[in-house]
Amino acid sequence: MKVLVGVKRVVDFNVNVRVRSDRSGVDTDNVKMSINPFDEVAVEQAVRLKEAGAAAEVIVFSVGPDRAAETIRTALAMGADRGILVQTDQATEPLAVAKVIAALVAREAPRLVLLGKQAIDDDCNQTAQMAAGLLGWPQGTSASALRLAGDVLQVTREVDAGTEELELALPAVVSVDLRLNDPRHASLPSIMKARKKEIASVTPDSLGVDAAPRLSVLEVRPPEERKAGRKVRGVAELASEISAVLEDA
Ligand code: AMP
Repeated sequence: MKVLVGVKRVVDFNVNVRVRSDRSGVDTDNVKMSINPFDEVAVEQAVRLKEAGAAAEVIVFSVGPDRAAETIRTALAMGADRGILVQTDQATEPLAVAKVIAALVAREAPRLVLLGKQAIDDDCNQTAQMAAGLLGWPQGTSASALRLAGDVLQVTREVDAGTEELELALPAVVSVDLRLNDPRHASLPSIMKARKKEIASVTPDSLGVDAAPRLSVLEVRPPEERKAGRKVRGVAELASEISAVLEDA
């Protein structure tokens, strides 16, 4: 079984993002970019499936600029077999990525597509659902545990009320939550080995996908500054502060 894994290049989660002065978006100039943390979990899971003998090949893809090849290289160093860069300098929206996934599935015939639950740049949480819809495949989103039993994938999902158990018939699309596993750190030898692994470069056009953005961002604003807190001396003072706030409201 081949496993196809999506890896997005995003602003590193440790970076304190700043809104551009013209409010058109977030400043990414000279900012550290990394693999989306949820995608690292997806790569780890795919590599574990391969190590357990359940997957024959792990193919990672990224839709993005040339530098997204670095993100693919990170996944190759973790143990993925080969990469596909779907090159575009435009912003990537979930529907366009879902169409790319459908086109790559037609080419590569994977039995499992593993994605992150969400990309931490725009927090859409839509790509897996759209890809499953376009493919007509079952989906399990926000997976915190996966068990493969023959052609059936048992998925534990994180939901508001706790967890939910699903059984999906393969082929299927699964998006993963952070609780699924602890991604490995690539060792130096695997980083060196990854340099020799193949990364094919294609474009959305060559896959027959129109990846042009369909959404326009009207304005991006930083969150309101939070007021500093203040210590109170006890319950009586806290209660009187609360009633003062309620009276003002
Ligand atoms: P989103 O729906 O944008 O929150 O993204 C959910 C998941 O879809 C991500 O965690 C990735 O696994 C995948 N994905 C989204 N955008 C891309 C992209 N440009 N390239 C590769 N995978 C992507």
